[in-house]
Amino acid sequence: MFIPNEIYYEKDIVNYELGKELLEKYKEVPKFEIANHNNIEEMRKKSNKEFPRMKKDLIIGIRKTHKFVENHKISDYLVPYTSSGCTASCLYCYLVCNYNKCAYLRLFVNREEMLEKIIKTAEKSEKELTFEIGSNSDLILENTITNNLVWTIENFKDTKKGFLTFPTKFDMVDSILPLRHNGKIIVRVSVNPEEIIRNVEFGTSNLEGRINAINKLAEAGYKVGILIAPVIFLEDWKEKYLNLIKILESKLSKKVKKELFFEVIFMTYSYIHTKINEEAYPNAINLYNKELMTGRGKGKYWYKSDIRKEGEKFFRENLNKYFNSNEIIYIV
Ligand code: SF4
Repeated sequence: MFIPNEIYYEKDIVNYELGKELLEKYKEVPKFEIANHNNIEEMRKKSNKEFPRMKKDLIIGIRKTHKFVENHKISDYLVPYTSSGCTASCLYCYLVCNYNKCAYLRLFVNREEMLEKIIKTAEKSEKELTFEIGSNSDLILENTITNNLVWTIENFKDTKKGFLTFPTKFDMVDSILPLRHNGKIIVRVSVNPEEIIRNVEFGTSNLEGRINAINKLAEAGYKVGILIAPVIFLEDWKEKYLNLIKILESKLSKKVKKELFFEVIFMTYSYIHTKINEEAYPNAINLYNKELMTGRGKGKYWYKSDIRKEGEKFFRENLNKYFNSNEIIYIV
């Protein structure tokens, strides 16, 4: 169970049921009142070396911006929801870019307001909409602290329209398995070769756990997808990812294979990741590869077009070979 080192909280959280619950749950943990979860002076001043320790703090506040961003991949809208950041430390996590603002776990207690806006938007729309509620956090992880995913599913299942979706790198799905969800929830589990999980995705669930979670979710009637993400072109990448595809083919249940879809995303990286990771995790592997990567503006890198094309060909060929009846939604 996650026990934070310290809690920073906005005083108005006591006006919300979840705020009161969390303060009671962590009554033994040292607490500091803050004016705004977006700007915590002490966190901003900390050095990069302190990053792993900051991941053990918890920030609790009230989400003020509720702007939906249009999306045209798997969902119709990216929706700010009940958390931001996470307790794990993937070396490529895009939240790291802004780490002293938002890479640590922030919980927002005004969940009723956020879910209500989603429900109203879904019901007003002529077409069925899908809302991505996990684009900057991990709701399976968050649920172990707040029970928010259970609460969300219970309060969304009987609405007339709409679907919710989120990605995860965790396997703690048992609490949502017995829930009635009416097919309105799509869980996308992100996978990587075990060696990459161990050396890059610190603090997340292992591959076996994630595969078991996918099988359990499908058995419980949830729609499931797999994100092969982010693809990292380390040495022997073809061998590593072919092995991953073969493991998926052999361990996923028949039920999963009937409906499963894939998304494939190549890693992006940045100068700031390099700087923070070399100070915070000096023994970790360096994901920046100057032969294979190129600038993308503002200190950001992505893989050069040749390697991305080769990657796309590789994944199309092998996913079509081992999962010939499953859709690849996109490779980017
Ligand atoms: S699990 Fe997701 S949110 Fe958490 S550190 Fe990894 S990439 Fe970032």
